[in-house]
Amino acid sequence: MSFKNLGLSPSLLRALDKLNYKQPTPIQEKAIPPILAGKDVLGIAQTGSGKTASFALPTLMNLQKDTRLRNRCVKVLVLVPTRELAVQVNEVFHQFGRVIENHVRTLAVFGGVSINPQMQKLQNVHILTATPGRLLELIEKKAVKLSDVQTLILDEADKMLNKSFEKEFQSILKLLPRKRQNLLFSATLSKDLEGIREVLLKEPTVIKIEPKKTNIELINQSAYLVTDAKKGPLLRYLIKNNDFKQVLVFASSTYKVDNIVNKLKKNGVDAFAIHSGKSQSARTNALAHFKAGKVQALVTTDLLARGIDIEFLPCVVNYELPRSPKDFIHRIGRTGRAENPGQAITLVTEKDLPHFKTIQKKMGKWVDLSYSEEINLHGY
Ligand code: AMP
Repeated sequence: MSFKNLGLSPSLLRALDKLNYKQPTPIQEKAIPPILAGKDVLGIAQTGSGKTASFALPTLMNLQKDTRLRNRCVKVLVLVPTRELAVQVNEVFHQFGRVIENHVRTLAVFGGVSINPQMQKLQNVHILTATPGRLLELIEKKAVKLSDVQTLILDEADKMLNKSFEKEFQSILKLLPRKRQNLLFSATLSKDLEGIREVLLKEPTVIKIEPKKTNIELINQSAYLVTDAKKGPLLRYLIKNNDFKQVLVFASSTYKVDNIVNKLKKNGVDAFAIHSGKSQSARTNALAHFKAGKVQALVTTDLLARGIDIEFLPCVVNYELPRSPKDFIHRIGRTGRAENPGQAITLVTEKDLPHFKTIQKKMGKWVDLSYSEEINLHGY
């Protein structure tokens, strides 16, 4: 199957060719035709599967056909759970949007930065990617209206539909036209999502791509049994001895993230932190530097566990286990993406062992446990 057979326009085909996207990924192959046909779609595919382009390309094609695009109002609303994902998804829309004939305009809006520039830019936007809180603020200020939205897209839909966004999501939903196309994409499908999809999607095309195992198999996993006190030295030992060019470290709290970064820096490892307590400009800078390969270690909370695409990331370290096994899979999924092998290292304390067992069971893969006591951590 080629992109050409999927009914994409010559300008999009040229853009795909430039990006060296030789053929559609499975989710793209399955999702593009029903989206082009105006159907509702529920797509379950792992991050790294080309999910974003699978909804961006046909949505852009549909807009291209829209002769009423001259009225400058939001036609496509993409809701995402994090600011970083908003930027990333908007980049994909922008990348393809600027090459198509109708020249659609795209924008990402998210909190943590000044609202005024967003308000000004909003006037001419057709495709808006937003985090729910900032979108509601903009609506309140009458900077945007949603009455012309033809397509609603929820990326990381299970997150968007769970308790943390429920109130905001319901407020937004009320402002959308009832007749619209709904596209839900998620790497995981939880019970909550099952429930809501009855409300949201009329006879949706359900697409489930299951490369999960293969993707997880691509990741070379190891785990170390270690005491809390030795985690810091072990992390530094692992980074230095393996000569990791880049490593993404997950911890459970903002306090811990800052602590790890400080200690890494003191020990000569270039490290940045991203967490909810950081200003948006610091978050954006840190991610941009990391994506550009300019910083060796990025330490974060589960804020970055979902959706964020970092090309050729060689290694993820779970400094602490996440509460949910699903988040573990999301975290390690930051590496081993797009057919590149990756490595995931998990630090486990004695009291984590039962929980780690549950995680492995859910993941369907057992990880060899090494003993940090056998490593000489002196000097780290
Ligand atoms: P996503 O799942 O949307 O985060 O995409 C993961 C990565 O795959 C991104 O870096 C995309 O640029 C890349 N990608 C998406 N579709 C294709 C394709 N058909 N061929 C090659 N790379 C792709």
